[in-house]
Amino acid sequence: NQMSRRFFVGGNWKMNSSNQHLAEHTKLLNSINADDVEVVIAPPSIYLCSVRDKLDKNIGVASQNCYFVDNGAFTGEISPSMLLDNDIRYVIIGHSERRTIFHETDELIANKVAFAISKGLIVIACIGETLAERERNDTLNVVYRQLTALKEKLENEAGWKNVVIAYEPVWAIGTGKVATPAQVHKAIRDWLTKNVSSKVSSDTRIIYGGSVTADNCKELAHQPDVDGFLVGGASLKPEFVDIVRARK
Ligand code: PGA
Repeated sequence: NQMSRRFFVGGNWKMNSSNQHLAEHTKLLNSINADDVEVVIAPPSIYLCSVRDKLDKNIGVASQNCYFVDNGAFTGEISPSMLLDNDIRYVIIGHSERRTIFHETDELIANKVAFAISKGLIVIACIGETLAERERNDTLNVVYRQLTALKEKLENEAGWKNVVIAYEPVWAIGTGKVATPAQVHKAIRDWLTKNVSSKVSSDTRIIYGGSVTADNCKELAHQPDVDGFLVGGASLKPEFVDIVRARK
């Protein structure tokens, strides 16, 4: 049930921050006393090791992306084994900005998720519909299509063990428009029951992303099937502390 799933709060800094900002912000993050929450910070890759060094060990660090090969002629990419070599244990894959701006397909994303999982990373896999898709009543079709692509590469139950699903409706990201995500979260959980297993369905954290703030996080955190958040803009600010404590 909901209480057996550890509340998960990710801070997706996107292409923001600086040495000056992160020096202050990591101090603040270290002052959060919330051992019952899994907190994971995703800075731009050039800051990963600095953030890792500055954060207390109970706070995780995530890359915002990775490739699906260990090494080779892939200019500009970083691999799961390089992340693990640097004690970076999480990765965000399939963020809507990767999908729309950088044209990542369901299949590429599924390949990256499966490879990262096979290497031992914990993956925050992002899914969600655009405004046009929502207006066409295609929300669930899109979410099921994105999940099906993952299922095709994550062969078995074990593959899903280290996946956190982030439901992020694209129209809610950075817009100040917040979804009421409980229904979609329930649909995702039911999909997992039907298409993977009831164990995976009851164990998997399904987190919400899209304009989460200190003001709306408490209400969101108490919606059924919402097991945490992926936070963008507010994760760079002091209010992130309140979001981590949303269940309190
Ligand atoms: P936002 O971004 O909180 O700024 O809406 C969320 C995300 O893109 O993960």
